[in-house]
Amino acid sequence: MVKKNDLKDKYKEIFDKGTDLPLVEDFYTIQGEGYHTGKPAYFIRIGGCDIGCQWCDSKISWNPAEHRLISVEEVVRKAVESPAKAVVVTGGEPSLYNLEPLCTELKKHNIENFLETSGAYEISGEWDWICLSPKRNKLPVPTSYQKANELKVIVFDLEKDFEWAEELSKNVGDDCLLYLQSEWSQYVHNVKPIVEYVKNNPKWNISLQAHKFMRIP
Ligand code: SF4
Repeated sequence: MVKKNDLKDKYKEIFDKGTDLPLVEDFYTIQGEGYHTGKPAYFIRIGGCDIGCQWCDSKISWNPAEHRLISVEEVVRKAVESPAKAVVVTGGEPSLYNLEPLCTELKKHNIENFLETSGAYEISGEWDWICLSPKRNKLPVPTSYQKANELKVIVFDLEKDFEWAEELSKNVGDDCLLYLQSEWSQYVHNVKPIVEYVKNNPKWNISLQAHKFMRIP
């Protein structure tokens, strides 16, 4: 396993170029989370993450060396060959990469591009939508808050995370939409308190992992 903090230096050239990306998986499905829930989208999951969330459901993505490098042209061609009108770029932690080549290629084909990121590194590229989902182990850099269209806070520990969500919400712009989403393994325990919290604090919305309820990837 790649040690935390080593990653950025070890794979610097790949991260900085952004023309070839370690592809964990790509597939056409329905976005299940946040503002774009229900929208058909082609998902591109990029390998590489040094954040180490304890409840991560994508640990397979952490080490970029375990995934085949694919050119942005090739991965975008696959998306273009699907009926998708939108692409969701996720990880891993995509902000490790220079995402300009990927965004440019997607825009060439008039595909909407949405980013899912912790914002732990400077976000590059032009995005139609940025979902910022901060992680406690490595907080977002200040510009990530400014760029966020949507703040999605994962709620594991109810009271502690409600408090944290309020703190985080002070950093984003006035137009940024605010979502609370239960960590999946805590869903049964957390859902009712989250419903009550959102009813009492209506600036927040609930994000469900609708794809998991639909049993689709
Ligand atoms: Fe997993 Fe995402 Fe956390 Fe990285 S940032 S450890 S991919 S949940």
